Amino acid sequence: MAAFVFHSGVADGNSSLRHHCGIVGISSREEVNMPELLFYGLFSLQHRGQESAGLAYRRQGKIKSYRSVGMVSTALSHYLSESHPSKLGIGHVRYSTHGTNKLENAQPIVVSCSKGEISLAHNGNISNSEILQERLISEGSIFQSTTDTELLLHMIARSRQSSFHEALVECLGLIEGAYCFLLMHEDTLYAVRDPYGFRPLVMGSRDGQVMFASETCALNMFQAGDIREVEPGEMVTVEGTRIISEKLPAPREPVHLPKPDTAAQNPPTARSTVQGTVAQNPPGTVARPRRAHCIFELIYFARPDSEVFGRTVHMARKKMGEMLARSDTVKADIVIAVPDSGNSAALGYSHASGIPLEQGLTRNHYMGRTFIQPTPAMREAGVRMKLHPVREAIAGKRVVVIDDSLVRGTTSRQIVKLLREAGAREIHLRLCSPPVRYPCFYGIDIPTHEELISNRLDPEGIAREIEADSVQFLSMDDLRQCVPNPGDFCYACFSGEYPTPVRDAPVSKKC
Ligand code: SF4
Repeated sequence: MAAFVFHSGVADGNSSLRHHCGIVGISSREEVNMPELLFYGLFSLQHRGQESAGLAYRRQGKIKSYRSVGMVSTALSHYLSESHPSKLGIGHVRYSTHGTNKLENAQPIVVSCSKGEISLAHNGNISNSEILQERLISEGSIFQSTTDTELLLHMIARSRQSSFHEALVECLGLIEGAYCFLLMHEDTLYAVRDPYGFRPLVMGSRDGQVMFASETCALNMFQAGDIREVEPGEMVTVEGTRIISEKLPAPREPVHLPKPDTAAQNPPTARSTVQGTVAQNPPGTVARPRRAHCIFELIYFARPDSEVFGRTVHMARKKMGEMLARSDTVKADIVIAVPDSGNSAALGYSHASGIPLEQGLTRNHYMGRTFIQPTPAMREAGVRMKLHPVREAIAGKRVVVIDDSLVRGTTSRQIVKLLREAGAREIHLRLCSPPVRYPCFYGIDIPTHEELISNRLDPEGIAREIEADSVQFLSMDDLRQCVPNPGDFCYACFSGEYPTPVRDAPVSKKC
């Protein structure tokens, strides 16, 4: 029997993009059962990582930690019946990369070094990790994991700065890419977000406690108040409930990859160096700091009830569905979602088009995660275990199917097949994002250039390949209308225009 390898792509729609991690941190004035609180926070962020879960907390002057593969409810459940009084803790949920599921890559990482005991949880991807790591290895560093998270700890340990705080600020100035870090050192919790704000990180408070989490859904579960984003480029230091905020150094200038047509001919390869042009500000002007929030957080990754980058995820997705409907002329009897990530957009499409919303597909939530398998037949089995058509709702109907994105097209093909078998008369696939064509350097695993169906085929060709009657993508212009401050987002996997310097092709060393 083949081994199951867990994968998030099919589990939440069709994206086949694997996302990254979720982090939570709590500083309390009084001792509380910290692991239990962290458990609940991580449980709310389970959708951001299901391969491993871990937590670290400070107890009697020492950092205690526990990491395990698996979901929060199994990996950390013993903490619900134990008492571990503590004032400080951080936690982490993680997806593995390239099918790895190694405990050594689970977080938080805890080390003892010249600066004392440090614990670190990371969400993101350090895009210049190769260069930094090569230098550290040549100077004698030995890495225990294959994540780039460990890199920051090596850099802090080797820093000549005398204090942990100064060493951290110095090292953050050398790191590029997408990162949200939570660190514990002595009695202090540090929360850091990269200057572009690629990934979300929010903070809030309640009676005698300050809390950080990747998404507001975790803080809402704690009924925290005063919720705000940790600003891009901000480092927040918390001791008890005393909060200090400081700005990180400004980021470097952006580099753009060649335009899509030339990039399509010469895509970045596994270890290639990407050449780009450095965007300059007009003489005499001072540019507002560039933001680059990952648009896929709103399209697919984040939970619908979270507020991410200033917009409730559900409302952003609903608007995407409305915009899709406004540019669509297809005649159909029902609109259905690929659950769960297509749900909000399907509602929006239905409202805007007047076509009734139906539950045409149900999702088995009890599988945990769908698996990917090496053969097409096994992948198809994965979709059939996860998604089930509601025959009576579909039979004889012209169906608009709303999904978040189209990556390889293999899952969509299987969904179309399921719907045809259930008797759908016509199937029109609508995607809440433009075609995905470029790699991500900021923590998202995107298949290779050749595997991305939109690099091979136009929408008509895709429809033929997946055997749908039609396929239509949300345009870039319409997508930008679904978010506040559209210039503050990263769209690089659609456009190839990267907001930061990129040298090496993406490597999977993210959290
Ligand atoms: Fe998100 Fe795409 Fe930018 Fe990566 S390249 S950060 S997936 S928008």
